[in-house]
Amino acid sequence: MKEADVLVLGSGVAGLMVALGCAARGAEVLVLTKRRADDGSTNWAQGGLAAVFDPEDSFARHARDTLTCGAGLSDPGVVRRVVGEAPERVAELEALGVRFTRTRRGLALGREGGHSGRRIVHAKDFTGQAIEQALVARARAHPRIRLVEEQLALDLILESRLRGGRAPAGRRERCWGAYVMDCRAGAPGAGRIRPVTAKVTVLATGGCGKVYLYTTNPDVATGDGIAMAYRAGATVENLEFVQFHPTCLYHPEAKSLLLTEALRGEGAVLRTLDGERFMPKVHPMAELAPRDVVARAIDRELKRRGETHVFLDVTHLPAARVRERFPNVYSSLKRYGLDLTREPIPVVPAAHYMCGGVRATLAGRTSLPGLLALGETACTGLHGANRLASNSLLEAVVGAHHGAAEALRLVRAARRAPQAEPWRAQGTHPPLETVVFDHHWDAVRRLMWDLVGIVRTDQRLLYAGRLLALLGEEIEFDYARLRLSRDLVELRNIALVGSLIVECARRRRESRGLHFNLDHPRRDRRYDGRPTALRRPRAARRARRLAAPAARAL
Ligand SMILES: Cc1cc2nc3c(=O)[nH]c(=O)nc-3n(C[C@H](O)[C@H](O)[C@H](O)COP(=O)(O)OP(=O)(O)OC[C@H]3O[C@@H](n4cnc5c(N)ncnc54)[C@H](O)[C@@H]3O)c2cc1C
Repeated sequence: MKEADVLVLGSGVAGLMVALGCAARGAEVLVLTKRRADDGSTNWAQGGLAAVFDPEDSFARHARDTLTCGAGLSDPGVVRRVVGEAPERVAELEALGVRFTRTRRGLALGREGGHSGRRIVHAKDFTGQAIEQALVARARAHPRIRLVEEQLALDLILESRLRGGRAPAGRRERCWGAYVMDCRAGAPGAGRIRPVTAKVTVLATGGCGKVYLYTTNPDVATGDGIAMAYRAGATVENLEFVQFHPTCLYHPEAKSLLLTEALRGEGAVLRTLDGERFMPKVHPMAELAPRDVVARAIDRELKRRGETHVFLDVTHLPAARVRERFPNVYSSLKRYGLDLTREPIPVVPAAHYMCGGVRATLAGRTSLPGLLALGETACTGLHGANRLASNSLLEAVVGAHHGAAEALRLVRAARRAPQAEPWRAQGTHPPLETVVFDHHWDAVRRLMWDLVGIVRTDQRLLYAGRLLALLGEEIEFDYARLRLSRDLVELRNIALVGSLIVECARRRRESRGLHFNLDHPRRDRRYDGRPTALRRPRAARRARRLAAPAARAL
């Protein structure tokens, strides 16, 4: 497990599809994933994957809906390519064993907010699970793929780290793999951190919903890939565009249960606690308005009325149809004693999807040679300032298809991956207590929710930036002197990604798509087509290298 042609970090749809694509072309692929193979957002996706199959629909309409949602920041070329390849990629998923729901006339097509037609390919309401299960089975069965669970990547291995901390003369910085912690409880190497080298490293580590207090994302979504790439000097962009899903279950025992947008597509309506339907006053598409509009409308109603939640109501739809179309949501709610067909369900918005990420081409190429980024970790130009529902699984599949070809090109061109320095744990000691970490986790997530949420102001962003800088310093101090744990590594990442979100939000002095700032409430044409790009200053990287042992220096 020390070396591979292609090292894939993450086993969601992006990671597994690129792994299968590389292995099919003859590469030896190592997939490392930080918990169980199916622990990721992919497994939780309910709604589906957008693709044009209806003869009344067209690629031009899908592209137009995507561009409208992206609010002037999507790349039209990327949009056209992704939309145009969607049917082929759906066919590829079916060939890999994914069973999408079909009727006698072909694929069943659902409808979701922002889409002008029926084009959501789905497997009832557990589309992500159907995809994840099929791909995990394929990857495990492939002789050239090794999939290892409970492996947490900490940081990337850089060329400059291989040679006493200096960038080699005349050669550009390059990525050669990652430092990885073995988190398998009871395994002989448990807790050990070692370098894994590869000619190509693929970040497919998903999103960063855990940066916020309320999120629909699973626990693994701590923005590790974005943080690792930024620390290594790659460009990240558009991190101010965080999508808040309007309808997450509001229940004291539910951690993050999403009520799919497809429910609204089938006729569910939103009501305040006194039963008033408010969306028709807000947008001509009412409950099917884009997600940011719906999330902000709910936020406004909650703040105006001082209430904690609103209701999602499907009680006017035939109960049998609801149970048949949404078996997953129906049974999940039953576990909390709620019956979707008989009573309105309490909901709140929650952080759901990161539109920004590591700047990458559609094929995943980043600004750091040897490093690809795919799926939710990447920012390819598809989503712009807002993601159209069900375009993300699609982006991951299309990106992985091209990413596999790109990875193979790099594998052929690269020399053998050099040996990396071992991880240095000398001088570190186990933490005496973990209460401080728990506090910092809560502090970061709470302040991001309160100060950098659905509606922002300059003052709140300034305040959030200062608080995060302080927390970041404390966390870095602990990181340099303590024996590392999963908790500390992820805490370091959410704090960094939080501060990058704040920095992007502060630089965009307008409101556009998902970024809404009361001090700049209108869209400003000067920002048209301008992503917010951040790159870690070279001086900061050098200073850190001097302050910490080489293998901890990022
Ligand atoms: C509840 C929910 C519903 C959704 N519904 C839809 C939908 O209907 N349609 C749609 O298009 N999109 C939907 N999305 C979004 C979509 O599911 C994700 O954008 C997509 O699955 C991301 O795929 P991915 O492969 O990039 O990441 P993920 O599937 O999240 O996989 C990330 C992987 O990286 C691993 N990982 C993370 N950090 C590390 C590390 N440091 N070291 C090693 N491994 C690491 C994780 O363990 C995981 O295996 C939904 C998301 C959620 C949360």
